[in-house]
Amino acid sequence: MAEFSLAINEEQEQLKDWVHQFAKDVIRPAGEEWDEREEFPWPIVQEAAKIGLYGFDFMAQAMFDASGLTMPLVIEELFWGDAGIGLSIMGSGLAAAGIAGNGTAEQVMEWVPQCYGTADDVKLAAFCVSEPDAGSDVSSLRTRAVYDEAKDEWVLNGTKAWITNGGIANIHVVVAAVDPELKGRGQASFIVPPDTPGLSQGQKYKKHGIKASHTTEVVLEDVRVPGSCLLGGKEKLDEKLARAREALNKPATESSGKQPAMATFEATRPAVGAMAIGVARAAYEYSLQYAQERMAFGKPIIKNQSIAFMLADMITEIDAARLLVHRAAWLSRNGKYVNAEGSQSKLKAGRVAVWTTERAIQILGGYGYTREYPVERWHRDAKIFDIFEGTEQIQQLVISRAISGLRIE
Ligand SMILES: Cc1cc2nc3c(=O)[nH]c(=O)nc-3n(C[C@H](O)[C@H](O)[C@H](O)COP(=O)(O)OP(=O)(O)OC[C@H]3O[C@@H](n4cnc5c(N)ncnc54)[C@H](O)[C@@H]3O)c2cc1C
Repeated sequence: MAEFSLAINEEQEQLKDWVHQFAKDVIRPAGEEWDEREEFPWPIVQEAAKIGLYGFDFMAQAMFDASGLTMPLVIEELFWGDAGIGLSIMGSGLAAAGIAGNGTAEQVMEWVPQCYGTADDVKLAAFCVSEPDAGSDVSSLRTRAVYDEAKDEWVLNGTKAWITNGGIANIHVVVAAVDPELKGRGQASFIVPPDTPGLSQGQKYKKHGIKASHTTEVVLEDVRVPGSCLLGGKEKLDEKLARAREALNKPATESSGKQPAMATFEATRPAVGAMAIGVARAAYEYSLQYAQERMAFGKPIIKNQSIAFMLADMITEIDAARLLVHRAAWLSRNGKYVNAEGSQSKLKAGRVAVWTTERAIQILGGYGYTREYPVERWHRDAKIFDIFEGTEQIQQLVISRAISGLRIE
């Protein structure tokens, strides 16, 4: 049994340095331009693919290291460079994780590489869960999947909202209701292969931050996919539905309030926490340097305790959040979650990113409030970490249910 340790080995140190260099040389200088353009930063993602930083092999290596720490280390560096571009590089990973978590070994081997393409022909993937009327409440999805037995095909209809890489992805992984009466337990995930008729991009959202990341509606109109595109297979789905129907007829108990899929959700949350830490660290480092250089009343502003103490609090909060993220990443990788440590890490890191970037604007004063300096953009970017992959309140809900075992509403 692996001993709990957050020690970073030499190989991880080297990888971290390599990603940091790319973030410093390529991502950071491009952040402002792609934020202004509000377009997917294809040239940067292609460059990442050329050096082996975007691709199936790299993601598999990062995802499966025994300590669980490689992924948060890599992600923090990418998002230190820029969050919109960082998400453009990491966004396909959500769909890949959805396939890896629910698919058979054959499905993983067939579809996950297609989420990334090759260094010469870069592809993207999108994970389509949220809908206009079902964001936090994922049990209420309206997108329907109906089985056409004669053709062994599934027919998907519905509208997905807020989808990262929506419409421009090669592979869309769509979560749909097979039996709406069973709510979350009546849902299944489907691969929509490239160029499938009926899938189209809806509106592209104009966002507050992470503007380089492509976020759209995805419309599904009589989208037909082969039976083999049901992740996990029909037999497994039928068994799951039968169990859920049986449970429906039994009286609810307090313990039934625990989320059965908590382990899966919890697994991806430290990664989002690491994204938040990358942005927070960028803002902290920038404002520390600025405070040492900016003169007011004849001395650098850092000589004022109020500024120096702000920076002391910023680094302390960032370190605390990183420790929670790394702890959760290790526990998740080693199957050792006790409570909702993944949600705790994401909750804390999201708050720290928003708070730290706001303090950074304060330290830069008027300059911080302009687009001449990056802290304004980082503050806009940071807010997403309180919202996607479960809002701040949903993390609190998950944590409070985990610690109490009660169905907290
Ligand atoms: C930039 C961006 C990218 C995204 N990418 C993806 C993606 O790739 N794939 C995907 O499927 N989704 C994606 N999402 C969707 C995201 O996960 C949802 O926006 C999020 O889950 C919140 O859902 P909602 O927007 O419908 O808010 P709502 O669920 O309507 O929540 C509104 C408010 O009510 C609060 N609230 C809701 N329920 C409760 C409750 N029970 N208790 C207390 N408070 C509650 C929430 O915390 C929030 O403050 C993305 C969103 C954004 C903004």
